[in-house]
Amino acid sequence: RAYRAFNDYPSLTKLAVVFTVSGGGLVAFSDSRPFGGAYADAIQANHNKRKVVVLGTGWAGTSFLKNLKDPSYEVQVVSPRNYFAFTPLLPSVTVGTVEARSVVEPVRNIVKKKGLDVKFREAECLKIDAVNKKVYCRSSQDTNLGGEENFTVDYDYLVVAMGARANTFNTPGVVENAHFLKEVEDAQRIRRTVIDCFERANLPTISDEEKKRILHFVVVGGGPTGVEFAAELHDFVTEDLAKLYPSVKDHVKITLLEAADHILNMFDKRITAFAEEKFQRDGIDLKTGSMVVKVTDKEISTKERATGENRSIPYGMVVWSTGIGTRPVVMDFMKQIGQGNRRVLATDEWLRVEGSDSIYALGDCATINQRKVMEDIMAIFSKADKIQSGTLTIADFKDVINDICERYPQVEIYLKKQQLKNFLDLLKNYQGNAQKETIDIELFKAALSEVDSQMKNLPATAQVAAQQGAYLANCFNRMEACEKNPEGPLRFRGSGRHRFRPFRYKHFGQFAPLGGEQTAAQLPGDWVSIGHSTQWLWYSVYASKLVSWRTRVLVISDWGRRFIFGRDSSRI
Ligand code: FAD
Repeated sequence: RAYRAFNDYPSLTKLAVVFTVSGGGLVAFSDSRPFGGAYADAIQANHNKRKVVVLGTGWAGTSFLKNLKDPSYEVQVVSPRNYFAFTPLLPSVTVGTVEARSVVEPVRNIVKKKGLDVKFREAECLKIDAVNKKVYCRSSQDTNLGGEENFTVDYDYLVVAMGARANTFNTPGVVENAHFLKEVEDAQRIRRTVIDCFERANLPTISDEEKKRILHFVVVGGGPTGVEFAAELHDFVTEDLAKLYPSVKDHVKITLLEAADHILNMFDKRITAFAEEKFQRDGIDLKTGSMVVKVTDKEISTKERATGENRSIPYGMVVWSTGIGTRPVVMDFMKQIGQGNRRVLATDEWLRVEGSDSIYALGDCATINQRKVMEDIMAIFSKADKIQSGTLTIADFKDVINDICERYPQVEIYLKKQQLKNFLDLLKNYQGNAQKETIDIELFKAALSEVDSQMKNLPATAQVAAQQGAYLANCFNRMEACEKNPEGPLRFRGSGRHRFRPFRYKHFGQFAPLGGEQTAAQLPGDWVSIGHSTQWLWYSVYASKLVSWRTRVLVISDWGRRFIFGRDSSRI
């Protein structure tokens, strides 16, 4: 109680509490609140707490904080934004299907848990000093409340969950002229710009040619985010704006540029085909095999992969959604620990950064090092008698892969379904004879190293990040018990690597909203569902996944408001 009172009234310490350390014991005196021994014990207990610093309040960081229950940690959270954002609904925020405040939850609400010692600092991490176990931070620069504050935070354990930034592939002019769709502010900016384009095109002095340019909305990137945004924009234009701006509605055009041959590449082919046909029916101009090479303030330059032809596309607004890149602070840390040649932080299967015992990394800024898995595969094969005697068959190979999948459950989905298939295709190509049953070891090794270089990481999704956060919190919750039992669970004693079971990703499926109240879903077991009923599945899953009852109520009422009144087109 005394400790809680101390926490509630920290200013009292300045006024009334005098500390002296005597005879190895901590004694506290206070002229107004005599806490005596209890207070001293609390302070001592606080000193003994292990310091956990969490960088980031996105999917991974928040999931960690929500699941952390052990009160024996002193937790400091550092993030430039004091809220958690439900990113899957950001495309809906860009057109006002849901409001920005409905998809965010203040971090302080999330960490306000009985008995847990969690402090939040609105600041960004500038540098991680892994040698001295320190993090250098700077107060958030978005506020107008005066100069920046720099401070350091010490840690015993560091949880790096800083996510990623938009990847521009260093394409000239993108940062200056394109919108990204990564943060809540990005979605709000896009919403304002769409309305700006319509209002400007509606001015009496604007020529038809210029109207066409201003109302040309270009989306770069045919992944789930780009596709969902194009679909939301199309719905906004046809359902709401066409009625409000009848004189310019015929000038509106939406183009989706994708460098690969198809959109939604990570989905089943049936979903890709359905999405492409639907976009064609809706009049969304889908240009595949088209690489953006430059963006100016009014034009996008592309190079067509098939013909090599260069094109110039006049536009009014461009949204860039081509995947994720490394944040500078993460890159700096990676260089420090000898991972400078990687794109994201490599961790082991327990989410520990390779070579840094007390640093964990999760979410979009990290990946489990699959190369280790491939090394193990090589080790298994090089020992196999059949390889030595040249009698290894494709059937044997499948058995070994199954064996490996059991040992590394988190790679099962990729290795088994995708890589195995790729590998067999490759092998057949290498061997030049699809019917040949025995595998040539040299060809096999060459194919294996090619697969190794293509080895897919876990996808950068909220699903992975949230599961990793929950997994790590669970490990932290059990850390004390494990320290008292250093041998750990029987199953993992032999490995000598960690006390907990390795992280195991469970894939629950993926949605691709396509507009017009239709969604595609790819569920576990390659079960595909597309259409209006899947849209209702999407509504229910996303409503249930929202982080709090407050946001759930807000989002559901936003959906209801949109059904009844349509989307709001005010430019505020
Ligand atoms: P983030 O959620 O990005 O969080 C990173 C955190 O780090 C943020 O709080 C940020 O402020 C903080 N941070 C940044 N820099 C610093 C710094 N220097 N110091 C301290 N903190 C810092 N995934 C799905 O599974 N399903 C979907 O439907 C889906 N839809 C998406 C739609 C959009 C528009 C976007 C952008 C992403 C979507 N994703 C989806 C992907 C998903 O959002 C990410 O995979 C997920 O956010 C990754 O979580 P994270 O915690 O690693 O990073």
